[in-house]
Amino acid sequence: MNATTRLALLAALTWPAVSAQAAQDPPVTIDTHVDIPFNYMVEPRFDVGHDTRLLVDLGKMERGGLNAAFFVVWVPQHALDAAGYAKAVQQASRKYDGIGRMLMMYPDRIRLATTPEQLLANRKAGLLSATIEIENAYSLGHDIRRLDAAFDRGARSVGLVHVGNNDLCSSSMPDTEHGEPAMNSAGDQGMSEFGRAVVKRANELGMLVDISHASDKCVRDALAVSATPLIASHSGARAVLDHPRNLPDGLLRALAAKGGVVQAVAYKEFLKHDPGRAAAEKKLQAAVAKQAGEKAYDSDNDDYRPEMEAGMAEIQKKYPLATLDDYVKQIRHMVQVAGIDHVGLASDFDGGGGITGWKDASETRNVTAALRKAGFSEPDIAKLWGGNLLRVWGEVERHAQH
Ligand SMILES: [Zn+2]
Repeated sequence: MNATTRLALLAALTWPAVSAQAAQDPPVTIDTHVDIPFNYMVEPRFDVGHDTRLLVDLGKMERGGLNAAFFVVWVPQHALDAAGYAKAVQQASRKYDGIGRMLMMYPDRIRLATTPEQLLANRKAGLLSATIEIENAYSLGHDIRRLDAAFDRGARSVGLVHVGNNDLCSSSMPDTEHGEPAMNSAGDQGMSEFGRAVVKRANELGMLVDISHASDKCVRDALAVSATPLIASHSGARAVLDHPRNLPDGLLRALAAKGGVVQAVAYKEFLKHDPGRAAAEKKLQAAVAKQAGEKAYDSDNDDYRPEMEAGMAEIQKKYPLATLDDYVKQIRHMVQVAGIDHVGLASDFDGGGGITGWKDASETRNVTAALRKAGFSEPDIAKLWGGNLLRVWGEVERHAQH
């Protein structure tokens, strides 16, 4: 048998298996939190039309059966002053440009979805979907008109805050080292007037309001202010794992009561308490940055270096990552507390997310398999993988039209 015949035979053998797998896929799979580097689609190593070291590229999505992702326009939190705002606006712009380049270069593989209908139409046409989500509305530069501009650039979800308080909200992880009051302490301010204005404008525009990263008080304020249900694009359950980024049962219930959805996230530290691993990772990051001659660790530059990957493999041996079992445990709890109509799924890939069993987008079907094994029915799995999120998005849109 020559090599060509062998290849043809192999293709004939494996192809039906792949399509049989695809035939068992849920109606649609949506991951509501995928980060991108600042040089996304600029440096060849971040060209997602090719195989990359990123945890999400188009090939990994296609192979893994991940149909849609919320690509995140994230900026880090800095000073609340003119220079800080200007820099945040500029950094956000680079991310919109990167997503735009992806859509422009690969229209036969991925399309923008600014409505639930578009997302489903893309799925039907065998195309991937990209929805744009703001993470940290600091990038509005304290100017409400930039929310309209973001909507015009395709953003359909606005995450209010990140790590450290901003001009909209107190954070679940305030910068206490620089004097910001701890979450739920007397000084925790919750939502500002500007934050309230942004939520109201998002309601008018038909944008999802995302409370992941917000303090408990800010979540309660957002629930009171918003005319529409809220989402948490990537959060866990605090009753299962005590971390400030995870939501307490009371807030899970309150978000559900308002009709919203909490997207359970496959982020190691929200699923498993492992200070040894966290310390080892920090040490490795510093060492890799130093070796590269950088002042400080920069995830965009350093996470995909071979020496970082080798170091992480060593750490994994000593301190194994959270697993799909840990993830399913949280999902189960969230479903018990909030109800099956109010939970969804997210990875936080390329932003620190990824666990054993769902290490990148190519392993997305493992999540579906784990949910089946845990006893979730097919209709329930369809809700978790996007049905609930699309329902909330549809409600938010309908409100805007009135
Ligand atoms: Zn985040």
